[in-house]
Parts: sequence; structure tokens; C-alpha cells
Amino acid sequence: MNIQKNISLKKYNTFRIDVRAKEFVEINSYKEIQSLISSGILNNKKFFILGGGSNILFTKDFDGIVVNINTKGKKLIKEDSEHIYLSVSAGEDWQDFVEYCLKNNYAGVENLSLIPGTVGAAPVQNIGAYGVELQDVFYELQAIEIKSGKKVKFSKDDCEFSYRNSIFKNKFKNKYIILSVIFKLNKHPKIKTEYGNIKQELKKSGIKNPGIKEISEAICNIRRNKLPDIEKIGCAGSFFKNPIVDEKIFLELKNKFPEIAAYKLPDSKYKLAAGWLIEECGFKGKTIGKAGIYKDQALVIVNRGDASASDIINVMKKVQQAVYEKFRVRLLPEVNVV
Ligand SMILES: Cc1cc2nc3c(=O)[nH]c(=O)nc-3n(C[C@H](O)[C@H](O)[C@H](O)COP(=O)(O)OP(=O)(O)OC[C@H]3O[C@@H](n4cnc5c(N)ncnc54)[C@H](O)[C@@H]3O)c2cc1C
Repeated sequence: MNIQKNISLKKYNTFRIDVRAKEFVEINSYKEIQSLISSGILNNKKFFILGGGSNILFTKDFDGIVVNINTKGKKLIKEDSEHIYLSVSAGEDWQDFVEYCLKNNYAGVENLSLIPGTVGAAPVQNIGAYGVELQDVFYELQAIEIKSGKKVKFSKDDCEFSYRNSIFKNKFKNKYIILSVIFKLNKHPKIKTEYGNIKQELKKSGIKNPGIKEISEAICNIRRNKLPDIEKIGCAGSFFKNPIVDEKIFLELKNKFPEIAAYKLPDSKYKLAAGWLIEECGFKGKTIGKAGIYKDQALVIVNRGDASASDIINVMKKVQQAVYEKFRVRLLPEVNVV
């Protein structure tokens, strides 16, 4: 275990914000996690558990230790006639895992193609895209309690998953390191094409009966067309959550703005498309200082070059204010502001 000092975090966050960590350690094995925890370092100083850095905005130098989880490995736990139970280490790249599933015909994660980041971070915000959420393929996870070093299993109920949320963002924030996730994958795919432009994309390619590989390809095409390439443009994906409002508020908004984009939820609430609200306020493609809003997706705040965190925060606040003034709806960040 090599604890480095005064490390730039620019290459460790997809916003490419150049802040420094007082200390930085890369963890490559369970043994290293154990020795880090038993050393007591994490009980004595500020720490931050880092995966791929694709859902974080570092706002200042980090006056503590950044622990970068890079553990690798996949293991078949069990299978039956319907399902495969696969345990995947926290540091595995999410897209590598999706591609592994496609290659082996394990269905369930194809709609979650091309989401950046690690497997260990996926349960933290219950990642979701194109009508599927992590909780739909989640079986169990293993974590280590930072204070005691005790290994604990979390079932799906224990994780308290909801929209872009879990117990690890709330009650157990900074209490556990997720070590591995067990996925329950399907041997017989349940193809989901209802959400977004999947059907149109498949039609364009002349595909009538898609399998999981075709679904993944269609989603990758859609995502490449509307999201920035993080190798070239700094961002953290959707900056804001889609706000959820009661039916009464939705109907009032619909009356005033008939074009409003929203999805009805089962509990008679409505999820408003934050991207639509932001676009209506005229932000799409705008540059504000060294940051701005992506030209093809208004939900994405981008680093236009060497933006600082305050450039990004400035855009965030301007967007929140404009959306509130026009629609009386508050936008909350999906990104972890550290
Ligand atoms: C271009 C782009 C597109 C995106 N599209 C989507 C999308 O469609 N859907 C979606 O849901 N998200 C999306 N995201 C957000 C992001 O990809 C996910 O939130 C992803 O799961 C973050 O993984 P990460 O490893 O980068 O986590 P990080 O950003 O490193 O960390 C995120 C949080 O998880 C915690 N964490 C990380 N690893 C562990 C661990 N092992 N144990 C405990 N806590 C941990 C961190 O402390 C932090 O609080 C997108 C991001 C980008 C840049």
C-alpha cells in the first residue's frame, strides 16, 4: 500500500477539475483494504472513497486521504434454469462488465451500456438509464464497515434503493466501502425498448427482433450522439436529477406549458425531464465563463477548458435560479459535490 502525497485529482475526475489531495492511495486487493482499515488511518482523518470519479465535483483541494478502489475480479456464484449469479469486484469498470455480460449472453444490464465508472459505485446512486435501474439486476453486495473492519452483506432491501439514491448516499454515507456486488442476471432476456429513442434507433438499423447485443449497440449509438465524450470534454453526465412532483403541480405546469416533458410514476407523481426545463430557459449550448451547457443535452454541465469548480457551480446556480423563476421547480444536483 503506497500512500502518495499532494496528488492532482485532475485525471481522477471526469469533470477534469484540477484540485489536489493531501494524500492518495490506490487499493488493488482486499488485503490492502484490510490493512488500510486496520491501520486506523480512516478513523483519524478525512477520507473520500473514489471509483472512476464520474459522479463527483471536487470543489476544493481535499485535505485528507483519497482512497481509489481498483480491485478486480468476477466470479460465478451459482446458476439455475433462469438466472446467473455473478459476483463482481468494486473496482471493475462498469462498461467492461456490461461487455462481459453481452459476450456471455447474460441479460439485464444491456440498457445500462456505456455508463462510466466502477461496479462498486453503481449501487451508491442506483444507476439507471433507458428504463432499467441497477436494483433490477441487483442480488446482494459485500461491504466492509470502515470503523470496525467488519465484513457485512447487504440485500436489496437493506440498500433502500430509490431514484438515483440508496442508503450509501444517506445513513451509511462514508460508513462502508463496497467490496463487490452480486448481480442476478437473466438467461432468457426480457428486452426493454420502451424508453427514449431505442425503437427508432433499432428501426434505423433495420433490426426487428433485437437481442441484448443489438439493444446495447442501439443505446451506445444514442448515448454517443447526445452525451459528450469524456476523453475530450469534462463533465459528470446528468448534473441534475429529474424533479418529481405531485399530480396537482404537474397539472398546473401542463396547463401553462402544454409541451412539458414528464413521465407518470406508479404513485400518481410525475417525473419532470430536467433537460427540458433547462432547455426552455435557453441554456442549451450556452457558455458561461469557462463552463457551460452541452449543445446536445441540456442536463449536462461541461468544462469548456480549464474550468474551476466555481465556474461549474456558477452555471449550476444560474440554471437552478432560472428554472425556479420560470417553473417554480427546484433542481437538485445528481452529482456528488465534495
Ligand atoms: C458522460 C456520463 C454519463 C453518465 N450517464 C449516467 C447514466 O446514464 N445513469 C447514471 O445513473 N449515471 C450516469 N453517470 C454518472 C456516473 O457514471 C455514475 O454515477 C457512476 O456509477 C459513478 O461511478 P464512479 O466509479 O465514477 O463513482 P465516483 O464518481 O468515483 O463516486 C461516486 C460516489 O460513490 C462513492 N463510491 C465509489 N466507489 C465506492 C465504493 N467502492 N464503496 C463505497 N462508496 C463508493 C463515492 O464516494 C461517491 O460518493 C454518467 C456520468 C458521465 C460522466
